[in-house]
Amino acid sequence: MIPSVLPTYTRAPLTFVKGEGSWLIEADGTRYLDLGAGIAVNCLGHAHPDLVKAVTDQAAALWHVSNLYHIPQQQALADKLVDATFADSVFFTNSGTEACELAVKMARKYFHDKGQPDRTQIITFEGAFHGRSSAAIAAAGSEKMTKGFGPLLPGFTNLPFGDHEALQAAVSDQTCAIMIEPIQGEGGIRTVPDQCLKGLRDLCDEHGILLILDEVQCGVGRTGKLFAHEWAGITPDIMMVAKGIGGGFPLGAVLATEDAASGMTAGTHGSTYGGNPLGCAVGCAVMDHVADPAFLDQVNRTAGLLRQKLEGLVANHPDIFESVRGSGLMLGLKCKAPNADVVAAGYANHVITVPAADNVVRLLPALNITDSDIAQAIDRLDKAAASLKQVA
Ligand SMILES: *Cc1c(COP(=O)(O)O)cnc(C)c1O
Repeated sequence: MIPSVLPTYTRAPLTFVKGEGSWLIEADGTRYLDLGAGIAVNCLGHAHPDLVKAVTDQAAALWHVSNLYHIPQQQALADKLVDATFADSVFFTNSGTEACELAVKMARKYFHDKGQPDRTQIITFEGAFHGRSSAAIAAAGSEKMTKGFGPLLPGFTNLPFGDHEALQAAVSDQTCAIMIEPIQGEGGIRTVPDQCLKGLRDLCDEHGILLILDEVQCGVGRTGKLFAHEWAGITPDIMMVAKGIGGGFPLGAVLATEDAASGMTAGTHGSTYGGNPLGCAVGCAVMDHVADPAFLDQVNRTAGLLRQKLEGLVANHPDIFESVRGSGLMLGLKCKAPNADVVAAGYANHVITVPAADNVVRLLPALNITDSDIAQAIDRLDKAAASLKQVA
């Protein structure tokens, strides 16, 4: 009999009832050190007092009004994002998938309105993850996500990761955009080197193509800059944001330059819930922390500490781990043992990590994780690795 919750997930046998900072707590009081943060969502940890206050104050005042009216919290969050980034304008969504939908629509509308309606092709990359809608699965192109869901939305060219010649060959007068994650999350913490991001920007400029960055997972302070592309010294035309921006409240956004957004006039797009007062009140509170240079300095310092300890962990367990990859607090352990076994051994030792493709275990802790929590995390990961060795 089908479960009452549609069984699209393979769930771990864990049920949390409470969160405190970097800790998740079961009903019997068992505490787990959370290095997953809801897959890079709970960027300020669980139950951060400023976020709790933002959501409860707003809940007492006004939950929802239609986008038929002005929403001050939405205006305030848009202003903060425009002030802090390349963007001139922001549309709010409830998720990363919806941000992907708008990014695709915006890029196509741009060329339609410039009198190039056939310029609809979007280049994407193998291993990408842009969400689960029809457009997003067509964009990512992997059989795992698309099989059985055809016909797929046309207009995407999926290229091998890091193949410069394939990229040069794929660009045509039909290409409207290149869409890429600066660091692939689901794909296994695979980083696009700064040099390659610069090369992509140049290629786009040369051919008049829009560069769409998917910073849903790597953005919002995760790499130690507010957005990951800042490390490469480039800017996109369109950027997808979600996950961390709501700190746990469902919130996403598309950020764009004035030029890239020029086709999106009144009536061309909308969302009932996107940009609602509750989500935007929380988003403002998140931004007040993560856009602060002192906060980002701290993320970089913490990231250095975690990385150094992970290198030690890998060196101590060469039969379990191969290497550390990623940047900032978006780190991956490339495993020799099956990554699912490593994650399960983590559960047994009360530390939470997240599997990814390419046999990688992801570490995406709260950006404000403490040094003592990092020490405990490494201790638990060390025990988890040792337990796998005994079995082997
Ligand atoms: C999670 C994710 C998405 C999809 O976001 P949802 O909020 O789950 O719809 C898109 N792109 C990237 C890079 C992601 O990590």
